Amino acid sequence: MHMDKNPAIPDAAAGPAAYRQYARDWLQAHLPAHMRSDSLDYRTPTLDECRAWEASMYQAGLAGMTWPRAYGGLGLSLREHLAVNKEVGALSMPESVSSIGKELAGPIIQAVGREDQKQFFLPRILAMEHYWCQGFSEPDAGSDLARLRTKATQEGEQWRINGQKIWTSGAAKAHYCLLLTRTGTVADKHRGLLMFAVPMDTPGIRVVPIKSIDGKDSFAEVFFDDVVVPDGARLGEPDEGWNAAIRVLSIERATNRMYRAWRFECELRQLVAACKSDPALSQLLQDGHYERRIGEVLGEIDALKGLVERTVDQLVAGERIGARGSLTKLYWSECHQKFAELALSLVSHVTPRSSALARRARKHFTTAYLFARAETIYAGTTEVQLDIIAQRIMDLPTELAK
Ligand SMILES: Cc1cc2nc3c(=O)[nH]c(=O)nc-3n(C[C@H](O)[C@H](O)[C@H](O)COP(=O)(O)OP(=O)(O)OC[C@H]3O[C@@H](n4cnc5c(N)ncnc54)[C@H](O)[C@@H]3O)c2cc1C
Repeated sequence: MHMDKNPAIPDAAAGPAAYRQYARDWLQAHLPAHMRSDSLDYRTPTLDECRAWEASMYQAGLAGMTWPRAYGGLGLSLREHLAVNKEVGALSMPESVSSIGKELAGPIIQAVGREDQKQFFLPRILAMEHYWCQGFSEPDAGSDLARLRTKATQEGEQWRINGQKIWTSGAAKAHYCLLLTRTGTVADKHRGLLMFAVPMDTPGIRVVPIKSIDGKDSFAEVFFDDVVVPDGARLGEPDEGWNAAIRVLSIERATNRMYRAWRFECELRQLVAACKSDPALSQLLQDGHYERRIGEVLGEIDALKGLVERTVDQLVAGERIGARGSLTKLYWSECHQKFAELALSLVSHVTPRSSALARRARKHFTTAYLFARAETIYAGTTEVQLDIIAQRIMDLPTELAK
């Protein structure tokens, strides 16, 4: 399935600057006001609205930039991908409802999938026909995935899967699960792991939503009781699961949601604009304490932009990012948590008599603060990133060597 090339989409020769301008013009012209969180017309978009919006972005050439044309992509470089991400970040638009499909499952299928799997899954992810969830974590295996227990047993041309996953984001809406299982025993640790693409409507799968601190139930426990899938659902060879999982995690840490720094700056500007719209909050902005904190956060956002630009330069030059992805994950999550604390401290001064924009900001930044608590946990906790940085970048002794 090829995407019919929309004639408005610039081609590779136009370069990233032209692509960025194109993305800016298109997004400004098409993003509905009710989907912009900095607008007074904002209301939480439905899943269908998000799906339609992201499908229209894909048709406009703003998704699948680096994916091969044979699978519905545009065959461009990470530079165009980054150019689009900068403009996505600069607008207060909703988070993607399909980032696990587009940014984790898609790249893994391209790396280890068979040709028929690439032909089937990749165009459907881009066209927003299939959502994915990521079934890695288990009650006793989060930071240390080598302890996972979900068992896959081969029975002729099929596999029987039994076990439990937890914290599975988007499980209730997902069509497929990128599932990590083991074929041997827990003592095998990272050997004998196997990845699958499991349809979520397979008999034996039970999804139990978990409510999070921000009131949403976007993640879940997922139970697999005698779930039978054909051998064709396997992604890669038995024993390739660990390497595939490491790839998924390094993408998640280094290049996933590349727009973050630009989104954080947009949020900071949104916060400042909301404060300026209200006399009492405006006064607070003149307080040296807040001035300094805002300056610090902006400085960190700028450094994060530099880290992202450097990552793209290295990847385009064909270098491996390896453990340096942990630096990016550590930095963005800590930086955004600090910003969310600053925002909450400012909007806590909003009263029912404050300006409409300030009241809107209070709602937005209270939710953002609560979600930011999770940012130093998912995609690898801060403590784990610090260990990786110390051990692999600075060559400090590992636990085993001590
Ligand atoms: C919002 C959110 C969404 C998520 N979505 C998904 C998803 O879609 N799919 C999925 O598979 N998982 C998902 N997760 C799970 C996430 O990957 C795990 O929570 C994370 O890997 C940590 O594992 P854990 O919760 O088991 O904590 P643990 O690994 O038990 O860690 C507990 C504490 O011990 C510390 N710790 C652990 N090991 C070490 C060590 N070696 N050195 C120092 N300190 C250590 C940790 O830093 C942490 O503070 C999500 C989590 C959140 C919060």
